[in-house]
Amino acid sequence: MTEFMDLEAQDGVRMPWNVIPGTKQEASNCVVPVSAIYTPIKAFPVNNNSMPILPYAPLRCRTCRSILNPFSIVDFAAKIWICPFCFQRNHFPPHYASITDDNLPAELFPQYTTIEYEPPGPGEKSSVPPVFMFVVDTCIIEEEMSFLKSALSQAIDLLPDNSLVGLITFGTLVQVHELGGFGQIIPKTYVFKGSKDVSKDQLLEQLNFFIKKPKPSTGVIAGVRDGLSSDTIARFLVPAFDCEFTLNSVLEELQKDPWPVPPDQRSTRCTGTALSIAASLLGACVPGSGARILAFVGGPSTEGPAAIVSKNLSEPIRSHKDLDKDSAPHYHKAVKFYDALSKQLVHQGHVLDLFACALDQVGVAELKVAVEKTGGLVVLSDSFGHAVFKDSVRRVFHSGDYDLGLSSNGIFEINCSKDIKVQGIIGPCASLEKKGPLCSDAVVGQGNTSAWKMCGLDKATSLCLVFEIVKKEIPDATLQSTNNQFYFQFLTYYQHNCGQMRLRVTTLSRRWVAGPGSVQDLIAGFDQEAAAVVMARLVSFKMEIEAEFDPIRWLDKALIHMCSRFGDYQKDSPSSFSLSPRFSIFPQFMFHLRRSQFVQVFNNSPDETAYFRMILNRENVTNSVVMIQPSLISYSFHSGPEPALLDVAAIAADRILLLDSYFTVVIFHGATIAQWRKAGYHNQPEHQVVNFVVDFDFNAK
Ligand SMILES: [Zn+2]
Repeated sequence: MTEFMDLEAQDGVRMPWNVIPGTKQEASNCVVPVSAIYTPIKAFPVNNNSMPILPYAPLRCRTCRSILNPFSIVDFAAKIWICPFCFQRNHFPPHYASITDDNLPAELFPQYTTIEYEPPGPGEKSSVPPVFMFVVDTCIIEEEMSFLKSALSQAIDLLPDNSLVGLITFGTLVQVHELGGFGQIIPKTYVFKGSKDVSKDQLLEQLNFFIKKPKPSTGVIAGVRDGLSSDTIARFLVPAFDCEFTLNSVLEELQKDPWPVPPDQRSTRCTGTALSIAASLLGACVPGSGARILAFVGGPSTEGPAAIVSKNLSEPIRSHKDLDKDSAPHYHKAVKFYDALSKQLVHQGHVLDLFACALDQVGVAELKVAVEKTGGLVVLSDSFGHAVFKDSVRRVFHSGDYDLGLSSNGIFEINCSKDIKVQGIIGPCASLEKKGPLCSDAVVGQGNTSAWKMCGLDKATSLCLVFEIVKKEIPDATLQSTNNQFYFQFLTYYQHNCGQMRLRVTTLSRRWVAGPGSVQDLIAGFDQEAAAVVMARLVSFKMEIEAEFDPIRWLDKALIHMCSRFGDYQKDSPSSFSLSPRFSIFPQFMFHLRRSQFVQVFNNSPDETAYFRMILNRENVTNSVVMIQPSLISYSFHSGPEPALLDVAAIAADRILLLDSYFTVVIFHGATIAQWRKAGYHNQPEHQVVNFVVDFDFNAK
């Protein structure tokens, strides 16, 4: 496994098949698709050998536009490089004239298969400030309200000074707060009905966007350059350093939604309308620049176009059973609404982050599409007073070594050898529908494209790229030749949190095999952890989109095919069966996956399932493996911390067990330890060794 970890440390990539089945037939026999879990802007440790950031623009192949990389063949005498993707011969431009065997530019160093470019841009002055639009639910009890207010005011303290901030509150009505009302004592608010979706034009009309300047008769309204006065924008999006006082006083005054709620009714809560207004306001004011809508939702949406349940408490909120039977009356309408919202946000380049804090479901299942396609963050908790919520909000704005590295405006592109096509991506991104010869007809996830929008991405965001091998057969001549490498190039353009546009380029090469005798090579390159994670994302995805899909049967069939292809056995002799160490824990992963929250959904609400899947779809291999198969660590006096089997046998009187299933951490004290703890031994200095401090942080992940 360590060699796969090393590859991940170099390029941020893990592939189930590091030796690739070379033909269509061979690949389909391998069951787990040729795929990769890729972390586009993974943070690498800074040392002598760390990824360089080149202060110039990349050199591109004139035919396929892929970028010069260590796998390009260079003719130093003729000053020519050959593109490994399309074999085009390219001349080096004059400023590469001094290139020789021992005077290479960094992008040709063999160890820099992952590299970043930051060509000189418009510079610090014109760089666009980050924008945060807070959208706050007021249909919550006083206690929750005070928790939320205190979390928000802490967040406001942490806002970068140059950022722009806006505030919308909602309940029965939507209120857009004019934070930049110059010279006003009481900030003005604009009120909208929650029951009706508001079009962008209506919104701008009502917010008096056209008082000083008439509305242009044609074209869309988008930002200052299209005729919106910057004064008008500044009424709703205010620099953080300017509005801290106003914002805090608005929050201070913020009241619980005043409309009476009869005892047999739910509150009137128009989450969808509020989010739509937030999106349109940002679309008018700051289209194309990095903006996040931070939605704080404390209960189910019951009003307007995206209600998930009626106000009548006698109607329960939809369960998995209802969704299965197609008897959730609001579900499809709400999903359709959020799908449209996701398209609008992706078009504008804006992110939706969801903080869902309630004992009830709030509609995460319906909102999922908008959060996931925009690369938003999701936090699910029982209460705004819960540490998970409070710490998560802080993390969003935290800067320094342990920040999330939130970046924006990403575009992700793939190039690969011509025998490979791209089926799609399962992960937080949206297809840009850039069709081309690279796109497979068999679409998985976000497909039909070779370019994807990533409105929001961070250091941890990990995509699952699914490929199709299209080579039909191998002519004998090629088998003998040395040209048995496939190449992949992943390009990520993004706005780094310093404000500059950067381009991260990862170029990979993997050997392919085909024909008799290739099984051993395939086994040697098999990364079973990556394979388990790809299968987990695939099965979750299929459960969501295929109506009659039977996940257990699908996983079982996959495992049986894998074992019959890669196991060693004599026919009719079960005891002769053995698997290579490369495959040894894969069956166990499948066993746990079958029982996991991703497959056994009936123990959870649709909101919880949506939440688990969104996290699975954005995490790296190591974290995802823990979600599939929890890790159990044993602490005792006899030895250091050691992994223990997930079995009752692991329980012992003198042990502390730590179970980490990623979403929850459970600590078990053995009987003896529990007695010691009761006696207070851990507080006595002479028994310091008893004082096991298990330091964990849910949100650090
Ligand atoms: Zn090329």
